[in-house]
Amino acid sequence: MSTGRREEIAAGLARVERRIAEACAAAGRARDEVTLIAVSKTYPASDVRLLSGLGVRDIGENRDQEAAAKAGECADLPVRWHFIGQLQTNKVRSVVSYADVIHSVDRPRLAAALGRAAVAAGRRVTCLVQVALDDDPGRGGVTPEAVPALADAVAGEEGLELGGVMAVAPLGADPAPAFARLREVAEALRGAHPGAVMISAGMSGDLAEAVAHGATHVRVGTALLGRRTPFVR
Ligand SMILES: *Cc1c(COP(=O)(O)O)cnc(C)c1O
Repeated sequence: MSTGRREEIAAGLARVERRIAEACAAAGRARDEVTLIAVSKTYPASDVRLLSGLGVRDIGENRDQEAAAKAGECADLPVRWHFIGQLQTNKVRSVVSYADVIHSVDRPRLAAALGRAAVAAGRRVTCLVQVALDDDPGRGGVTPEAVPALADAVAGEEGLELGGVMAVAPLGADPAPAFARLREVAEALRGAHPGAVMISAGMSGDLAEAVAHGATHVRVGTALLGRRTPFVR
C-alpha cells in the first residue's frame, strides 16, 4: 500500500513538474526560477516523507496544530516548512518554532508578534505580505495600497526578513489580471526593499498563469496528493 502511495505521488509530481517546466518555457524563464511548495494539509506525515524521498524540499501547511505535529514527525527530513494559512496571534510562538517562511502576514500586530517570537526563539523567519487581489476580505490579505506600510513593519522587526508578497487568485475569476497586479505590487515593493524578491502565487488550478506573471513560488496540493476530503477542508 505504501508502495502504491509512493507511485501515486511520484506520478502527481511528474505531472506538476511538467506543467511548471512548460509554463517556464512559455514565459522564457529558467525552471530554477520557480520553487514548488508541496501543500500537505490534511495529508499525513508519511506523505511528506514520500515527497521528501522524491526530492521535494519545500512543504506548505495552513493550520498550526497540524503543521506543528507533522514538522515534529519529519524533523529528520531536509525540508523547509512554509506556513500559508491565516495566522492568529496566539499561535505565533508555535509557528515560529518550525516555520522557515510565513506567507500570510496581513496586519502590523501580527508582524510585531512574529518578530518578538522569532527573537525569543533565536530564529530569523522569512515573511511575505499577503495581498488581497479582490474585494473579499474573508480570504485574507491587505489591499495593494496597504502593502508598503506592512512591509516596512515586517522589515523593521529584528527577527524577521521581508521575503516578498503572496496572494491567492480571486475565486471564480480569470487569475491572469490578478497575478499581473500582484507582480506590479511586488515590483513597487522591491524599490524600497531590494531583497524582497519572492512572489508566492499559483495553486493546482492556476500555476501556469502565476508562472507567466512572475511567480517565484507555487503552492500545490491537490495536483500532487489528490483531492482533500471536503468536510476536512
Ligand atoms: C490549500 C492551499 C493551496 C493549495 O491548493 P490546491 O488547489 O490544493 O493546489 C495553496 N495556497 C493556499 C493558501 C492554500 O490554503
